[in-house]
Amino acid sequence: MSNYAIETKCIQSGYEPGNGEARVLPIYQSTTFKYDSTEHMGKLFALEEDGYFYTRLANPTNDAVAQKICDLEGGVAAVLTSSGQAANYYAVFNICEAGDHLVMSSKVYGGTFNLLVNTMKKMGVECTVVDPDASEEELNKAFQPNTKCVVAESVANPALVVLDFEKFARVAHAHGVPLIVDNTFPTPINCRPFEFGADIVTHSTTKYMDGHATVVGGCIVDSGNFDWTKYPEKFAGLCTPDHTYHGVVFTEHFGKAAYISKIVTVLMRDLGSIPSPHNSFLLNIGLETLHLRVPRHCENAQKVAEFLEAHPKVAKVNFPGLKSNAYYELAQKYMPGGSSGVISFVLDGTKEDAVTFMDHLKLAAIVTHVADARTCVLHPASHTHRQMNEKQLLEAGVEPGLIRLSVGIENVNDIIADLSQALDQI
Ligand code: PLP
Repeated sequence: MSNYAIETKCIQSGYEPGNGEARVLPIYQSTTFKYDSTEHMGKLFALEEDGYFYTRLANPTNDAVAQKICDLEGGVAAVLTSSGQAANYYAVFNICEAGDHLVMSSKVYGGTFNLLVNTMKKMGVECTVVDPDASEEELNKAFQPNTKCVVAESVANPALVVLDFEKFARVAHAHGVPLIVDNTFPTPINCRPFEFGADIVTHSTTKYMDGHATVVGGCIVDSGNFDWTKYPEKFAGLCTPDHTYHGVVFTEHFGKAAYISKIVTVLMRDLGSIPSPHNSFLLNIGLETLHLRVPRHCENAQKVAEFLEAHPKVAKVNFPGLKSNAYYELAQKYMPGGSSGVISFVLDGTKEDAVTFMDHLKLAAIVTHVADARTCVLHPASHTHRQMNEKQLLEAGVEPGLIRLSVGIENVNDIIADLSQALDQI
């Protein structure tokens, strides 16, 4: 599918039926797969032959959807996970173990912050948090001899900071480690991080990719560009024999698919976190219209951001599509078609005013979600980022009165009318 345009890939990638086979991707709702001989099954376990044997490791429906996302991002291999959290955890844990260290942008989703700063610490992995706007010189100081990767979000949730991909890739590569980018918000329709030096991309497919708020899921895609064999001691799990798999050396056996193959054969084997094939089927239906929905989300969000910016009761609007935004230039460079449909803004009033405003919305619903077809709102300080202290909140770009608005694909005049009547209540 590599020569087709992204719109065609959204529809066609991942599944090519043979003569007389189902036109639509079938749901292989089966935990297991049958073989005619003991020897054949043995070869699958020994990784000597390709084939499905147990859905926790691989399933044809899941693989077809992973392949579609892989094509959309321009990668060489991909795997679906049961959630975006699992995707970020596996992406890091696949190359980090107790005694290792990673560098992470401070502007990331609250769940990612908690996972990499607090939970991974309990597993012996330390994380240094950096300001994504820091100079290369400052970023260099965060690295240690045991640093294994750099993690950042292409458009941070909810701070909406646009990542300077090339700066981060340069710094990561200068220290011999891959750059892992969570590309959930822009999706590959707006931005393909591999084109700017990222090595691994993760997604919470729960958001725009599904797009209808029906299935939680995640995905990890490898660009195939990072040469693990250049640093065999640093990435020993990929470059030296794995005694739990008859001494297989992932980089030798799987070549450019080494990183994803290790996730499938080791992390999925030991930890699980696969999506159900039925969820992957639903995700695939969402992906078929990704190229139609994402531009409409961005178009609507642009109009809503302009409306809010001109409103006297709004103190500040944060949207990379506004010329007044600090990340406007970076957004134009890396995602000229739009960043996402997500806006954050601060009312000219108290925290209570924010609550009054939110409680008077009729069309926009208060939900713990973002990036689906329906317009929704959330108060990050009391919802998604509740575990953080005040200092961490400010570091993550979350002011106490900040409202996160995910602009849906309803008629934009209806969305603006709803916001307008709720603003009239304060
Ligand atoms: N990454 C980003 C940027 C997110 O916004 C989220 C969830 O909001 C996640 C990861 C976690 O994904 P999930 O909720 O699918 O586990």
